[in-house]
Amino acid sequence: MASYQIFKGLLRQSNKTIFKSPRLHASTGYNFALNDTQKEIQELARKFSREEIVPIAAHHDRTGEYPWDIFKKAWSLGLVNGHIPEDIGGMDNNVFTGCLIAEELAYGCTGISTALEATGLGQAPVINAGNKEQKKKYLGRLLEEPLVAAYCVTEPGAGSDVAGIKTRAERKGDEWILNGQKMWITNGGVANWYFVLARTNPDPKAPANKAFTGFIVEREFAGVTPGRKEMNMGQRASDTRGITFEDVRVPKENVLIGEGEGFKIAMGTFDKTRPAVAAGATGLSQRCLDEASKYANERKTFGVPIAQHQAISFLLADMGIGVELSRLSWMKAAWEIDNGTRNTYSASIAKCFAADMANKIATDAVQVFGGNGFNSDYPVEKLMRDAKIYQIYEGTAQIQRLIISRLIIERAKSLN
Ligand SMILES: Cc1cc2nc3c(=O)[nH]c(=O)nc-3n(C[C@H](O)[C@H](O)[C@H](O)COP(=O)(O)OP(=O)(O)OC[C@H]3O[C@@H](n4cnc5c(N)ncnc54)[C@H](O)[C@@H]3O)c2cc1C
Repeated sequence: MASYQIFKGLLRQSNKTIFKSPRLHASTGYNFALNDTQKEIQELARKFSREEIVPIAAHHDRTGEYPWDIFKKAWSLGLVNGHIPEDIGGMDNNVFTGCLIAEELAYGCTGISTALEATGLGQAPVINAGNKEQKKKYLGRLLEEPLVAAYCVTEPGAGSDVAGIKTRAERKGDEWILNGQKMWITNGGVANWYFVLARTNPDPKAPANKAFTGFIVEREFAGVTPGRKEMNMGQRASDTRGITFEDVRVPKENVLIGEGEGFKIAMGTFDKTRPAVAAGATGLSQRCLDEASKYANERKTFGVPIAQHQAISFLLADMGIGVELSRLSWMKAAWEIDNGTRNTYSASIAKCFAADMANKIATDAVQVFGGNGFNSDYPVEKLMRDAKIYQIYEGTAQIQRLIISRLIIERAKSLN
């Protein structure tokens, strides 16, 4: 498709000219000014979000229908699958470019943007750890057709405590036999294939970084059964399900790196994906600020627009502060990983801060709307419901603080 080719070129140019540019490595420090190419990418995603997503967001929230039409359009424009490497035919976007797009799509509807972004989460282990054949087969398939992937780690009994998962795989000749139950899997019912983490060392004393293996499992493999679509508080366009794996025969070719490498692969994806989750939360916060400030200029009480009451204008000011700092936090985390710096600390800060801010900002947006804010004919009620999940998925707010505090405490050991 012509527009896709143009966009693909734009993105490639962006990666080469911006992120490898000496300007960003200058000793003067960070520079987050977008250049013209990045602005064009942002503009394309923004236009798509405003024109295609905003008008149908309420419908998908109400019905929970998976946004296939939007997905197909985004696929044809190159707004999904951005991180697939160039040698497979992908755009090889860096994390920063992916985040720019994620923020814009989330502005339109975070249920829809989560549905679109979660295929990237499913792909990340294969991009990071897949061999040439695995990448060609499974990532290539996603470029040929508008299909999605999913990331299956969480289980009914273990989410934060990933090492507590019970799904197991046993080697039988050239195959692995997979048994277990996953839970809360985004794209669970619509994915073509899954990244699945399973315990392969039955010894409970085996260290986590040796006990688990990562597999690529096709939806069509016998014994794979997605459950019912869960009815969640928010982000209802996104498809969240449990999945049962019953005596699923997985060829040994579908093991990522090798036996025992799964835990590192599963956890290693987050340094790249958490900045994008933070960018999504920022998009939601920006939408809240725009809706609330427009409304505050229109709604009158005591003879003046409510924006002229300081109590309201200060709420808007606090929302603005939250939006700007959320954006800076994802930009720093993305910049670091794109420039080869370990970003676990900044990625957790960005994810934690932007998620907490989105929840505060969405609650304040409802407050600005008064009674109308509590009603589903107005947009902010949905935004408040949608915001909550940002403090839960991809590591809860508490788990981010655990990571951040551990790194602070570790660093303190080297301070005098
Ligand atoms: C809509 C949705 C989509 C999701 N998508 C995916 C997906 O695509 N793939 C996937 O694998 N998973 C997915 N998840 C799962 C998600 O990542 C987990 O729900 C999350 O990690 C929390 O795990 P849990 O639900 O088991 O909560 P628990 O781990 O049981 O935590 C319960 C509470 O205890 C707190 N807590 C736990 N341990 C500690 C601790 N050590 N210190 C302090 N507090 C602690 C938590 O922060 C939380 O507040 C999704 C979940 C939802 C709801």
